[in-house]
Amino acid sequence: MPAAFDSLPMLPRDTLGRSLHDLRISVTDRCNFRCVYCMPRAVFGPDHAFLPRDGLLSFDEIERLVRIFAQLGVEKVRLTGGEPLVRRDLALLVARLAAIPGVRDLTLTTNGVLLPSLAARLKAAGLHRVTISLDADDDETFMRLNDAGVPVARVMAGIEAAEAAGLGPIKLNMVVKRGWNEHAILPMARRFRGTGRILRFIEYMDVGHSNGWRLDDVVSADEIIRTISADFAVEPMEPTARGEVAERYRYTDGAGEIGIIASVSRPFCGDCNRARVSADGQLYTCLFATSGSDLRSLLREGASDADLEAELRRIWSIRDDRYSELRSAETVDLPKVEMSYIGG
Ligand code: SAM
Ligand code: SF4
Ligand code: SF4
Repeated sequence: MPAAFDSLPMLPRDTLGRSLHDLRISVTDRCNFRCVYCMPRAVFGPDHAFLPRDGLLSFDEIERLVRIFAQLGVEKVRLTGGEPLVRRDLALLVARLAAIPGVRDLTLTTNGVLLPSLAARLKAAGLHRVTISLDADDDETFMRLNDAGVPVARVMAGIEAAEAAGLGPIKLNMVVKRGWNEHAILPMARRFRGTGRILRFIEYMDVGHSNGWRLDDVVSADEIIRTISADFAVEPMEPTARGEVAERYRYTDGAGEIGIIASVSRPFCGDCNRARVSADGQLYTCLFATSGSDLRSLLREGASDADLEAELRRIWSIRDDRYSELRSAETVDLPKVEMSYIGG
């Protein structure tokens, strides 16, 4: 082996042999929706204390962290929130991250309503793709779920704006919560098959501790597939990448594919190569973590790049998370970090 390769530092592996490949960064804890399964109005109402502006990581701080993460093997970066598009000047951050060597895939998850005014700017700044959330295709169901009076047409306008800007192919996320929107599974499948937009059904998860999650509220992957199969024949596809969370299925008539993210009924911790940084700069090595590592303090107390890299290596090397494989009646009540801080 050439000497130059010999001296390259090893990329970190956790205690279960998993590498670090994906990074999700929450850029704000605020949102213009109040989805019942994420930011229920009873908890995130007028009295809720959101992070003060100086509590959020600055663009300088985020860029610095992403550079270091990229040196440790991160190739895929997703911006999320809260609603990432409510963070002021987000396109400026996108431009900085797009320029970091090693970042091959730069994406964003959004509820879509601000895309008509922002999609072109984000594309020009270097964003590759967007994932847009939409939980039903009828206004009554969707507005009950988003609890912000936003009709489906506003999200559809966002989808179209993203496609027109070149941010496709679009993936769509639909969280399925029993008693709320399982009746929308087939209409959503019907609406999006054959459009090139990839609809992904997400099992409702016990993230955080304010959404009152119960196992009975989960509509399982099996049930979702059974529902779709009543009208359309689908067959499983091979995964395209290790660590891909969605199980892919294709319509046998050639009308495209769907995905299922079954983190409750079919956990995928064995392949989980994802780190998450919350809006206030805590590093979480699992979506269901009860505590994080305070990167914001390190950044603000003058840590050097080498210090930060060493700390990230240390944290990843002791990681042993596999919450979904261990989920039980007891774990559900743990004081886990809220989705709107950690970003899904
Ligand atoms: N606001 C953006 C959005 O909704 O797309 C980005 C942040 S949101 C927290 C990221 C994703 O997490 C969304 O697709 C949302 O539907 C999903 N999500 C939120 N709470 C969830 C839960 N309890 N179970 C499963 N998915 C959830
Ligand atoms: Fe906002 Fe997204 Fe959470 Fe809905 S899922 S409340 S859009 S952060
Ligand atoms: Fe990864 Fe934690 Fe989800 Fe398992 S439960 S897949 S370790 S985020």
